[in-house]
Amino acid sequence: MSSAPDCIFCKIIAGEIPCFKLFEDERTLSFMDINPFNDGHCLVITKAHYPDLFAASADDLAAVARTTQTVAAAVNSAMRPEGLNIVQANGPAAGQSVFHYHCHVFPRRLDDEAMLNWGHNPGDMTRIEANHQKILAALG
Ligand code: 5GP
Ligand code: ZN
Repeated sequence: MSSAPDCIFCKIIAGEIPCFKLFEDERTLSFMDINPFNDGHCLVITKAHYPDLFAASADDLAAVARTTQTVAAAVNSAMRPEGLNIVQANGPAAGQSVFHYHCHVFPRRLDDEAMLNWGHNPGDMTRIEANHQKILAALG
């Protein structure tokens, strides 16, 4: 499987950097975002390194879609948001900061006023861990 030496997500896949893992299968990995916009914000990534949507294989994109549905259902059940966006930032102007293909599971509140380029503010690790446990419980 392809990986890139300086890629933070490849390091998470390799276990060199820790994460709050939610779900894993042959092609995908899901974990909590460390700069969450809202409670329960998490990511679904390909295990293979692709810089963006254009580079990703169709089979891996399909696998990300399947995992996203599973994880989003758990986030919905655990966090009870008023909506969810599935967001993929493709390219710098779209707000992509990690060039390893991924989708955000982005819980929404009616009054959160989220913008598409929502910025990265460090999260409270205790809170992220508590949300991780709730979503893991919902995954069953
Ligand atoms: P992008 O900006 O490319 O759409 O999304 C990248 C996401 O990865 C950001 O929301 C950012 O908070 C998250 N992120 C960056 N580095 C790490 C990390 O080391 N661990 C985790 N869990 N998330 C990260
Ligand atoms: Zn990578």
